[in-house]
Amino acid sequence: MRNDLSERLMMRCPIIYRGAIPGPNRIVMHFGFECSSGWFEMVLLLSEAIERIAARLKNEGVEESRLPMVCQVKQKFGGLRYYMENGNEEIYALIQEAQAKSFHICEICGAYGERLIIGGFYTTRCNEHTRPDLGD
Ligand SMILES: [Zn+2]
Repeated sequence: MRNDLSERLMMRCPIIYRGAIPGPNRIVMHFGFECSSGWFEMVLLLSEAIERIAARLKNEGVEESRLPMVCQVKQKFGGLRYYMENGNEEIYALIQEAQAKSFHICEICGAYGERLIIGGFYTTRCNEHTRPDLGD
């Protein structure tokens, strides 16, 4: 994921990405978003939906250490993996939905794609982006 896009995700969703923002929680998510930029929109929509839930919990008086926090975001076997601390049923349902969609979203451009094996690894790509050296 490009740095500017990663930063947008963190800035738009400061509660759930507090582990990725420099500070005492930084160690929790020091690796960034381990998927390519074509998934930005999907990850943004998912993040914003979870952030709204987190904001609601915060307003209800849940203390920060118990609020939802993202630990890892990556691509594995061509699909999204999105790991949280302090998740709940509502959040896990959203993650599952995004994961199902991710198998049809090109990791490079965000267009409709299919899961392929390229260079020995699963990846999800549209017809235009099947070269193995793509991705950021
Ligand atoms: Zn593409």
